[in-house]
Amino acid sequence: MEPTMANGSSSDIISWFEDVSENAPSVQTRTLRRILQLNFAVEYLKKWIGEVSIEDMEDKALESLYTSLVPLASHADFEPYVQRIADGEKAALITQEPITTLSLSSGTTDGRQKYVPFTRHSSKTTLQIFKLAAAYRSRIYSTKEGGRILEFIYSSKQFKTKGGITVGTATTHYYASEEFKIKQRETKSYICSPEEVISSGDYKQSTYCHLLLGLYFNDQVEFIASTFAFSIVQSFRSFEESWKDICNDIRDGTLSSKITIPSVRKAVLDIISVPNPSLAKRVISKCVELEEMDWVGLIPKLWPNAKYVYSIMTGSMQHYLTKLRHYAGDLPLVSGDYGSTESWIGVNVDPCCPPEKVSFAVVPTFSYFEFIPLNRSENEDGKSAIDDFIEDDPVPLSNVKIGKQYEIVLTTFTGLYRYRLGDVVEVVGFHRNTPKLNFICRRKLILTVNIDKNTENDLQLVVEKGSKILRKARAELVDFTSHAEVVKNPGHYIIYWEIKGEVEERILEECCREMDASFVDHGYVVSRRSNSIGPLELCIVEKGTFKKIMENFIANGAALSQFKTPRCTSNQVLLRILHLCTIKRFHSTAYGP
Ligand code: AMP
Repeated sequence: MEPTMANGSSSDIISWFEDVSENAPSVQTRTLRRILQLNFAVEYLKKWIGEVSIEDMEDKALESLYTSLVPLASHADFEPYVQRIADGEKAALITQEPITTLSLSSGTTDGRQKYVPFTRHSSKTTLQIFKLAAAYRSRIYSTKEGGRILEFIYSSKQFKTKGGITVGTATTHYYASEEFKIKQRETKSYICSPEEVISSGDYKQSTYCHLLLGLYFNDQVEFIASTFAFSIVQSFRSFEESWKDICNDIRDGTLSSKITIPSVRKAVLDIISVPNPSLAKRVISKCVELEEMDWVGLIPKLWPNAKYVYSIMTGSMQHYLTKLRHYAGDLPLVSGDYGSTESWIGVNVDPCCPPEKVSFAVVPTFSYFEFIPLNRSENEDGKSAIDDFIEDDPVPLSNVKIGKQYEIVLTTFTGLYRYRLGDVVEVVGFHRNTPKLNFICRRKLILTVNIDKNTENDLQLVVEKGSKILRKARAELVDFTSHAEVVKNPGHYIIYWEIKGEVEERILEECCREMDASFVDHGYVVSRRSNSIGPLELCIVEKGTFKKIMENFIANGAALSQFKTPRCTSNQVLLRILHLCTIKRFHSTAYGP
């Protein structure tokens, strides 16, 4: 039987993964058996399976029994159990081992933070996927042992529920775990910042210190990383403003008075307190040149030994690729792996693949995965489909087909059974016998007024077309979101843009028209032609609006490490911010004046 986790060197880890991917179908049925053996007697499973003895059952028979008796479920089905755990109930509700920690999912994808069980297994699989991905990267990009990573990572605050359970984001639990230290030791690369900086709880202070320490160790930095690409982009945007203060600190061995948290001050000053005027001078002269060139190629210029930039750049992060390339110059961008607070899913085994084309090989020991086949709905009356897809029955990993799209269903070691994750993926190939997935979008429809159906991905494509016009006019789209306005009749889409640079109004009118005309969804086109959906509205918001949105999420417990700008929102607080910050409005004339 294959071990669930590999230990040892990079080549051991890769050969372990090659082996489990070769045998992915049988590894999956054994993974399911393990999960059920561990948790068979828990209240949730007993409710569906009863008292059947599973010990003597064949793996395949157990899989059929499980999928025929236990229903597909959503987060709402687990909420009452998770609530009882949070309240301190000790009975075996969803896992045999008591759950002492809960994670908060970022909530930035569907607007609501969810509590998700977190166990030692969660930290172990995080360590496992990071080591595995590092092993694949090291085959292509050789980094120096003992080198450093400039890693923009942030913990959120942890708190206790009334039942004494620790709550925080999954990344927060991981950064606080032993596994985070083991990963640095075993991959022989160390983050520039001490733990106090990661967990300061104030993202601005953390970012300043990450940048300062990154420059302090600049010759040793082997690569630049973050969980999601957004954090790298926002860090370098802030560097454009703060580089002079950072250079002063390097020169004098001091720390700006903006850093007010005593533990952070102490930890950083312990490292940088020896003045380093020659380094400061070098950095200043590079920054002066960079500033003149609008910071193109900032990363290789300031971190000459960096081999690549590593972060999740797919899905809702795709928008930041343009800016990331701007900062990264010729350095390769390596797309980070695929997972969620609920479970890790797939690893990037082709680190040199451009982020637009990257796929993730499913790790078949992490969870038991099922795939709901999704077909694009031809139905135009909008009555039967809850969204754009018609579903078939879920299939196991062994039955997925190349070219088809699926929603992922998870059965985890942490007590989620046939849990619909809500992500849509496409199978684009196989790594030995485990599927390679392209992340397509969140399942939830994001823009709909009546019979029209547009996903996050559809919106992304439309915004990309509009922002091309903007780029030609030498301006930059900083960030965007959208809203389906249905209060007035006819309803219409609003797209909010924050832009950098001066743009003439006629250009923005053109962007607005182009985006309206670029929604190819049949329901939208028909409705626009008949005016049952009104002209698309483009609202330009003032500088700093999206920062306010991010800060609003962070104030509510989200961590910057997991933050994703919601691409569509009905959240009243966000809509108020957007409304108050709107400085210009345009209405599309794509379907007539
Ligand atoms: P959360 O657990 O709330 O921080 O977010 C997990 C979600 O982030 C997943 O369900 C995906 O929708 C998205 N996500 C995670 N990894 C990737 C990736 N590599 N590419 C695209 N989206 C991702």
